Amino acid sequence: MVDKLPKSAHPETIAAQALGLTDEATGSIVPGIHLSTNYERDENYDKPQDRSYIRDQGPTQQHCEQVIAALEGGAEALTFSSGIAACTAPFHALKHGARVAVSRTIYHGVLTWLEIFAADRGLGVDYFDAGNLDELSAIIAKGDTRLVWLETPANPSWVVTDIAEAAKIAHGGGAVLAVDSTAATPVLTRPIELGADIVCHSATKFLSGHSDVIAGALVTADTSTELWQRIHDHRIYAGPILGSMEAYLLTRGMKTLFLRVARQCENAMAVARYLHTHANVEAVHYPGLQSFPGHEIASHQMKGGYGGMLSYQVPGGRDEAIARVLRAGVFKRATSLGGVESLMEHRKSSESNVTTTPENLIRVSTGIEHVDDLLADLEQMLV
Ligand SMILES: *Cc1c(COP(=O)(O)O)cnc(C)c1O
Repeated sequence: MVDKLPKSAHPETIAAQALGLTDEATGSIVPGIHLSTNYERDENYDKPQDRSYIRDQGPTQQHCEQVIAALEGGAEALTFSSGIAACTAPFHALKHGARVAVSRTIYHGVLTWLEIFAADRGLGVDYFDAGNLDELSAIIAKGDTRLVWLETPANPSWVVTDIAEAAKIAHGGGAVLAVDSTAATPVLTRPIELGADIVCHSATKFLSGHSDVIAGALVTADTSTELWQRIHDHRIYAGPILGSMEAYLLTRGMKTLFLRVARQCENAMAVARYLHTHANVEAVHYPGLQSFPGHEIASHQMKGGYGGMLSYQVPGGRDEAIARVLRAGVFKRATSLGGVESLMEHRKSSESNVTTTPENLIRVSTGIEHVDDLLADLEQMLV
């Protein structure tokens, strides 16, 4: 495949044209979906384009990875079979007994997995407050932390962490900073430019954007580190790779990433403002609201919007919150996020017991619908 875009191309252009790569054999604008698992060696017994087997050399996957790396401004990306496979890979790549510092507010699946895995692997885990990095500083000062893991904005309260500050603290103690940037997307935040070493995505969400692909990705700032090499090894030898069809669908989805995220941010802001003034709403958590504790950090860290994710709390507990969600019409009553359709869920029902999510919290993912339809739906739900 041939890279036809100028070096100066903007991320919007890189996304829309998937790096401008076309198929050399046919000239097709859309490169083919390569399903072959293996590649024929030539008359000298050399591998064609250095490929022999699909597990880490599929051209459809590699194209997708190149687009993700370019959008994040990273040196290399690796795709995975799911977001959680990507999130857990850096921990798998650590040596037995390593210490990690992990934000208390992250996607519940990673927290749950870490509780099991850390004990089995002898990993030492120190948890820190995502909104106040003094705790992280104190952990790093002890001097033996290998990896710092955080998510921003973070599920499900959307607390925002200052990535540049976290990177400074982590690097001061010789630790690597990994950021789950699923909710921010490379449209709004490029963590590597702010000092992060590794960026993680559940590409199931905004990157693919149509609620029909499960995929994950990691991006590195530097391919030469031992940790990144071990992540490569983990993917090749444990095998959590992305299938060719999924890689194709993910690349296709990313072509409209910028348009979708811009609209999702607009809709989320309108929904957050509406909920913020509503008498039957106790609290709204959205980085775009001036009353949000992390608003200042979000304003300089997130460019062009505050994301498509927010949560709100209603008076009462679990039953009252579920009763509200049951009245949703335009909003789909479903978990997950980042798709073109707006979603709403009683968050605690989707999480395991490791989280402290309040029972009256409803999580919203805004899609690309007309905002008036979303606001009208909320109005009839909240009367
Ligand atoms: C959904 C999600 C994950 C897990 O991704 P899957 O694709 O569902 O495996 C990880 N991190 C965040 C922030 C998520 O929203």
